[in-house]
Amino acid sequence: MTVLKKRIYGLIGLPLKHSLSALMHNAAFKTLKINAEYRLFEIRPEEVDNFLAHLDENNISGLNVTIPYKEKVLKFVKLDQESSFLRQLQAVNTIAKRDGLWTGFNTDIAGFSRHLNEQFDPLGKKAAILGAGGAAKAVAYVLASLKAKSISVFDVDRQKSRNISGMIKEIFPGFPIYPVDSIEGLEIKDKDLLVNATPVGLKEEDPCLLKDGQLHSSLFVYDLIYNPAQTKLLALAKQAGAGTSNGLGMLLYQGMLSFRIWTGQDAPREAMEGALNLELSVKKNYSKKEKQC
Ligand code: NAP
Repeated sequence: MTVLKKRIYGLIGLPLKHSLSALMHNAAFKTLKINAEYRLFEIRPEEVDNFLAHLDENNISGLNVTIPYKEKVLKFVKLDQESSFLRQLQAVNTIAKRDGLWTGFNTDIAGFSRHLNEQFDPLGKKAAILGAGGAAKAVAYVLASLKAKSISVFDVDRQKSRNISGMIKEIFPGFPIYPVDSIEGLEIKDKDLLVNATPVGLKEEDPCLLKDGQLHSSLFVYDLIYNPAQTKLLALAKQAGAGTSNGLGMLLYQGMLSFRIWTGQDAPREAMEGALNLELSVKKNYSKKEKQC
């Protein structure tokens, strides 16, 4: 009898200690009785080129990629015709072997799109994005492709807001996306959707991104952060009567899609969602009381 070798999947990035991806994917493998394991690979910047250049299919079957390597990975993968725009967007978060070559995908895009659409239709709506890093690229791509009316984007690093605007305009010529130089410049009073794509809110001691009075009741606020489940921003949005969502659904949906890309099988949603909810409810019991702005 041949014993099949265990397949190894994983996440590369730095740091990874807060990642819930291993939990979610290992629950899926267990449920479907797939002989595979998902591991966390914390790779230092000076090691990442070597790691990616020597990826061996016999040892690794597929990877997720997170900060700070979503751009770096592009030079080691090919892109399918339908995802060639990822080269302009400079953001790949999943790789898998296709026809003998490592191929790049971005499942954050479909993950955010599916979860946002369950709650809010951006068609014809004015959007503001806080942050212009890797995740903001997926957010801006989704909003432009779903024909939002306009996007304003603010990042503490002004060049990054300009870069993301340039990328979106290249992919969607003429799309009205505006880099702004301050939070006030986002003119949130005039917006329908606000997305937080910064890491501000992950830590208890993080400041409030916005002040009381800057939000309003006809706004929908989507925070990509899922741990804590309610950031200070979301608490403030609720107080203002705005609709709110955290990013747990995005995490789940991008993970389900990566799973399908690697295994060809439908991801077991209940098992993956259950593993995430269990972990987050345990963490919540240990964390201090949620703070407000
Ligand atoms: P990233 O590439 O580091 O981008 C974050 C950007 O926000 C950086 O350009 C950062 O600038 C900027 N920033 C920091 N503080 C800011 C502030 N006060 N105002 C405006 N901009 C600010 O990180 P990422 O990968 O895009 O991730 C962003 C967040 O999304 C993280 O919390 C991550 O956990 C979350 N995320 C969630 C999902 C999900 O599935 N739910 C998926 C991906 C990411 P500096 O670099 O100069 O600080």
